[in-house]
Amino acid sequence: MFDYLIVGAGFAGSVLAERLATQSHKKVLIIDKRNHIGGNTYDYYDEHGILVHKYGPHIFHTNSFEVFSYLSKFTQWRQYEHCVLASVDGQLVPIPINQNTINCLYGLNLNSEEVAEFYNNRAEKRTIIKTSEDVVINAVGKELYEKFFKGYSKKQWGIDPSELDASVTARVPTRTNKDNRYFTDTYQSMPLHGYTKLFESMLSHPGIKIMLNTDYKDVIDIIPHKKLIYTGPVDDYFNNCYGKLPYRSIDFKFETFDTECFQPTGTVNYPNNHAYTRITEFKYLTGQTHHKTSIVYEYPTAEGDPYYPIPCPENNNMYRKYKLLADTLPNVYFTGRLGTYKYYNMDQVVAQSLALFKKLSTGETKEVNGHKGELIKIENKISDDRNRIYKS
Ligand code: FAD
Ligand code: UDP
Repeated sequence: MFDYLIVGAGFAGSVLAERLATQSHKKVLIIDKRNHIGGNTYDYYDEHGILVHKYGPHIFHTNSFEVFSYLSKFTQWRQYEHCVLASVDGQLVPIPINQNTINCLYGLNLNSEEVAEFYNNRAEKRTIIKTSEDVVINAVGKELYEKFFKGYSKKQWGIDPSELDASVTARVPTRTNKDNRYFTDTYQSMPLHGYTKLFESMLSHPGIKIMLNTDYKDVIDIIPHKKLIYTGPVDDYFNNCYGKLPYRSIDFKFETFDTECFQPTGTVNYPNNHAYTRITEFKYLTGQTHHKTSIVYEYPTAEGDPYYPIPCPENNNMYRKYKLLADTLPNVYFTGRLGTYKYYNMDQVVAQSLALFKKLSTGETKEVNGHKGELIKIENKISDDRNRIYKS
């Protein structure tokens, strides 16, 4: 009998497996339908011997000392500060928009105060900032919004930024200084030997068994376990009973060139031309030296693996219904980007799973219909719980 069956070997599931096995001495089985651990952060050496990220570029950054020191148990780090250029009006200029961007784009030589004035003169102040369009137009006005955000966001999300929550474009700030870094977090580093190695170290414990190439639905009824932690898409768990939650997927197209360097920085964004949103050259991220170089193009699509929850009021409402349903299951816990339908970065997912571990380890149970989980007599077998919900 396993104490925990965990669905998904990405950060959400693996952090919990590691904590439960090493700190609470639980017997854990972690299942993934893919043929590898690491979830979307999985990296591998391609046929040319270059370390690439199978599911798109993953740059680690966090302000959380707790998250950074926790992950430092499993990897050494390589300091790396990601810089991104955007292809706009025939030039490559820094994004987030900053003093350098404005001076480059308009052939000016403004100082910080003058750039602030430049933004203020163009900003269309909005009293309520609800959408991703509001965020940018309120800060810098329509022209810069159209040059940098409108086209990129439409490609990325398949809907206009005026329909997306403010939180999406708020991820990319506007600066008056010359800071060209994409992130300003306290800790910005890449796992020295890659993410997959980090996960191997995290999951290497006698209390953790790993089952790959397996959809949990095919085995859940035959593997005895006390509790389930689920990090796959929450709507999928409930057989889409309230409808399918929309996700954005990406087609990743990899290419390798017989040259040391392809582009001037780790990522170049293409807001206004091409069907892809961005190109990333992996050697910048990993620090690898190699006489060839591998890049990835990202083509957003509606079909395919669910990579991005789409934050907008309609989807948030549908998720809320699933959340209410999820809360009725006393021995099933939902976490992670897909399990809680949240546009989370890696560090947020790690923090979320560490928080869930604390609750589990202090015996704090879920509130189920206003009662503590252990007080109500619902059968322990997760599959029965699920069946009951599907039938009702
Ligand atoms: P996942 O990594 O998706 O893991 C869930 C796992 O569950 C998957 O392996 C899946 O196969 C498995 N699963 C699902 N259903 C089943 C089932 N029925 N049976 C068995 N297994 C199942 N974050 C950053 O911090 N920095 C970045 O630069 C960054 N870049 C990103 C770029 C892209 C293109 C994408 C898509 C995401 C990026 N992220 C980045 C976000 C990051 O990938 C996530 O925050 C993190 O990987 C989520 O971890 P997770 O464990 O919740 O989900
Ligand atoms: N964005 C944009 N132009 C850019 C960069 C970002 O319009 O050059 C918007 C876009 O909507 C994107 C969001 O800001 O989806 C968040 O960007 P981020 O780089 O954080 O996206 P991720 O790395 O998660 O795909």
